[in-house]
Amino acid sequence: MTLALDRSDETAEAQGVYALLKRIFSENARLYTRSYVIAVICLVLVAGTTAFSAWILKDVINEIFVNRRAELIPWICAAVFGAFAIRGVASYIQAVLLAKIGNDIVARYQKRVFARLMDLGVNFFATSRSGELAARINGNISAIRDVLNLTITSLARDLISLLGLIGVMVFTDWFLSLVSLLIGPPLIIAVVYIARRIRAVTRETVLLNARVAGTMQEVAQGITVVKAFTMEQQLAARIGWLIDQAFERSNKLVSVSERMTPLTEFLAGAAIAGVIGYGGYHTVVNQEPPGAVMAFIAALLLAYEPARRLARLHINMERAMVNARMIYDLLDMEVQQNDAPDAVPLEVEKGRIVFDRVDFSYQEGIPVLHDLSLVAEEGKTTAIVGASGAGKSTLIALLQRFYDPVDGQILIDGQDIRRVTKGSLRGRIAYVSQQPYLFEGTIRDNIRYGRAEASDAEIEEAARLANAEDFILAQPQGYETEVGENGITLSGGQRQRLSIARAIVRNAPILLLDEATSSLDNDSEKLVQDALDKVMKGRTTIVIAHRLSTVVNADRIVVMEAGRVVEEGNHRTLINKPGGVYARFYALQGGEQPDLLDKKPARNAAKEETPSAAVS
Ligand code: ADP
Repeated sequence: MTLALDRSDETAEAQGVYALLKRIFSENARLYTRSYVIAVICLVLVAGTTAFSAWILKDVINEIFVNRRAELIPWICAAVFGAFAIRGVASYIQAVLLAKIGNDIVARYQKRVFARLMDLGVNFFATSRSGELAARINGNISAIRDVLNLTITSLARDLISLLGLIGVMVFTDWFLSLVSLLIGPPLIIAVVYIARRIRAVTRETVLLNARVAGTMQEVAQGITVVKAFTMEQQLAARIGWLIDQAFERSNKLVSVSERMTPLTEFLAGAAIAGVIGYGGYHTVVNQEPPGAVMAFIAALLLAYEPARRLARLHINMERAMVNARMIYDLLDMEVQQNDAPDAVPLEVEKGRIVFDRVDFSYQEGIPVLHDLSLVAEEGKTTAIVGASGAGKSTLIALLQRFYDPVDGQILIDGQDIRRVTKGSLRGRIAYVSQQPYLFEGTIRDNIRYGRAEASDAEIEEAARLANAEDFILAQPQGYETEVGENGITLSGGQRQRLSIARAIVRNAPILLLDEATSSLDNDSEKLVQDALDKVMKGRTTIVIAHRLSTVVNADRIVVMEAGRVVEEGNHRTLINKPGGVYARFYALQGGEQPDLLDKKPARNAAKEETPSAAVS
């Protein structure tokens, strides 16, 4: 499996179930001390009344039915009723309290995990599949709630009930108790064996189920491609295979964990039959009053449920722990590109960007950028051109500190970006990606993601500048229209303009732009281009250029090839450079597709009066 979090079982096991349990408790129990104390008192009451109801059976039978003491009837009845009433109320309170704590735990872990996901570097997301990750996290978090609740209920209710009932049994007949307790050891051996088998299967089941959910989500997201390529059957076969695997594992899990059931029934049956035989024989032959035996049998029968639950506890815990461990693997994952301890906020006066002999590789041994130096002058536009895979996006990623250079440094106004806080660095940068992403919320929210404290007026001004106002006002609720999964559908160009408005609102001195290559229609393209021209004005802009107009008008053009800068200059100097890469490309415009510049083929660029088509 290709999950980033999929650590080997050995490391996970080495962490130790009990160390993990201790950690879960130390992180959570403290927060709920009061509720837990009340819940535990209630659970003890439940346990106590359970034991009491067995114990009183002796008096019910001996005093009422054998000794016929009528005056005791009301007292005994009242005691029985009282015990059940207390049990009822206590059960209710503990159930509500524990469920509320459980919900709170789920909510808190969801927030923690989300915060951690936000902290993790882009490299983590580059290696995880979003749907799968989300599905798995959901399952994992509910398991942490189960760990806590299982432990509390089992210890406070089942263990105390069991001890109370064993107390009643020992008190009424120690010899019989000893014989009955002989079923304990074989039960424990079985539990340990089953728990071990369950660990591996649980892990596989969780991962497979997450893959199924993840694949379904991917299909939903890419449904147009699925339909266009008539991939339905291939995908159905693939997901069918995954589902079958998950199904098989789930069945295996059930058949292993349910092996406890016949065993406990068998042992309990033997014990109860034995007690009835022995006790019955005693009562009949020795003419003893039957109360004690009846109380003993009642205690034994009542002890069966808590004993069964305790026996299963270890098995259920094992399943919950496997999940909890996965969450902690995620929470413990090291955050790269952390702020240095002495990091200071970035001070941007001019916004001059310098790449100083930068080497970089994503994976060791596969260099992507080699000794790359370039300067993006303050307030000017620097266009980066180069074939696909030349390292243009990598350059932009490094500048935002999604990754750190292996060697060399990146400076903004003379400050090494590794020495400043990530927050201040990214706060001074506005980024417009090739793919315009919109997020949960309204149109207004989506623009405000650029800067949380932007006023409504600033948002509307940005929308105007981004040529987005017309279509926003045409929406049913204007700026308050919901976008995203279940909201309105916007065209590619409209999304672009919203993401440009977001960049305008950010009002940052540095603008990073990955020009869209998806073909917008001419009108839309013009509107987007016009919006971009406005936002670029006066800002230090680095643009991964795909359009001829951007390149021609840029103050400086940097031509990249295989992770190196091969040419630099403005359009005029570069086209006049004999034998130059850029000159060759330019000469080829309108002819055959040059391999220097990537993405979409020229749309009769040479024939158009204004060079607004794609570069290549
Ligand atoms: P461009 O933007 O010019 O098309 P990129 O910067 O995306 O080029 O990619 C440069 C090189 O780095 C390519 O060979 C690409 O395969 C590799 N690369 C890009 N992103 C990653 C990544 N997350 N992990 C590993 N290699 C990557």
